Amino acid sequence: MPPGLRQELSRLVFWGLLGIAAGAAEGRPFAGFAAALLFAALLQILRLSRLTRWLGRRTEAPIPELGGLLDEAIREVHATDRASERHKEHIAGLFERLQAAASAMPDAMVVLSQRHVIEWANAPAERLLGLNPRDVGSRIVHLIRDPALSAYLEAGDYREPLVLKGSVEPHVVAVQIIPFGASQRLIIGRDITHFTKLEDMRSHFVADVSHELRTPLTVLRGFLETFKDTIPGADTELAGHLALMDDQVARMGRLVDDLLALSRLETTPAHRHEERVDVARLCANLQNVAGALSGERAHRITVEAAPALLIGNEEELRSAFTNLVHNAIRHTPPGGAIRLLWRADAQGGRFTVEDTGEGIPAHHLPFLTERFYRVDSGRSRASGGTGLGLSIVAQVLMRHNARLTIDSVPGQGSRFTCVFPPSRVTVRAVSSLPPAGTV
Ligand code: ADP
Repeated sequence: MPPGLRQELSRLVFWGLLGIAAGAAEGRPFAGFAAALLFAALLQILRLSRLTRWLGRRTEAPIPELGGLLDEAIREVHATDRASERHKEHIAGLFERLQAAASAMPDAMVVLSQRHVIEWANAPAERLLGLNPRDVGSRIVHLIRDPALSAYLEAGDYREPLVLKGSVEPHVVAVQIIPFGASQRLIIGRDITHFTKLEDMRSHFVADVSHELRTPLTVLRGFLETFKDTIPGADTELAGHLALMDDQVARMGRLVDDLLALSRLETTPAHRHEERVDVARLCANLQNVAGALSGERAHRITVEAAPALLIGNEEELRSAFTNLVHNAIRHTPPGGAIRLLWRADAQGGRFTVEDTGEGIPAHHLPFLTERFYRVDSGRSRASGGTGLGLSIVAQVLMRHNARLTIDSVPGQGSRFTCVFPPSRVTVRAVSSLPPAGTV
């Protein structure tokens, strides 16, 4: 029998016997027994009330001596309290160590609750994103005021990181969002200032070299012209050499122009000088350019254009569309058909150049927009290609939130389509248009 229970029973027996003895002295042993039991019950109530009082403030009150089963209950409660205290300390230590580890990381980490409210941020978040511990409880979009971040958070598509530039100066930070739990999000911000600087230096270097090459090329071209005019008519060998030199100098000129165009697209901010572009008019111009390029090869060039307008940078769009038209002419045999299409609906706008040319095997399609990627290098060079045309197209489309889709069947032809989002297309008739201006 547990000692506590034994103590309780002995106490009851003691009071019972005492009551019987006292009652017997008066000739009423049962009444004495009943009175003793009542007294024992009263004492028990008092002990229970002391126990209840202690339980209520047991963290600061000393442990009372109540004896019997109540002492055993107190010991149990005390042991459970100590175990839960140790557990709490363990969790707090773990949390501190996690916090220290998160702060030792070079990346910023921020936990957002529903509605993008900051729940927790590590120390690098202060350096990279300008968030400090006082910002817990505030909405992140009120502290990092960048429309791109708000749009990114709302869109919910976090497959590609978002690059924050001006809003977290002097840093450039690539932000990756990882959703977790019911509706929480973990933001990881990586400092890419150094990579961006290197990338800028590379772009500027290419631009500078291309620019520097322009002058010597112009001088060479000038001398070649003079030589061509002065060589004796009979010297066909020299004339052949000069024609070859002329071709190569022209090719270098096209390369320099394309490299400069690409680096301009890479180094200037997007969305500048945007206006409502009349694509139908642009298509008519492109048809003339294509006709001139085709010349004696007599391609059949047709245009079908909706009266919808495209919001964008006209120069950039013209350059991208011209590259597609050039490619179609260069890769389509004489007499082939080339169609320019401009369509717009609720899904957005699509500019397509279709040809009945040589086509492209499917395994080349994913790489066509890479710089200097050619399906057939010899043929590309012979037809005046630089290997940069589709890279320029891809870069222009990226600056217009658009994408390029390519369908092609070898031997039958190709279809290059620039797909623009609905936000960039206005389906008003051209005649009801206000004068073009910056949007
Ligand atoms: P290039 O100056 O060599 O044409 P691009 O970047 O414009 O460079 O195109 C890359 C490659 O894609 C080309 O070399 C060519 O092989 C292929 N290509 C592009 N447009 C067409 C087309 N309309 N038909 C067939 N092949 C094409």
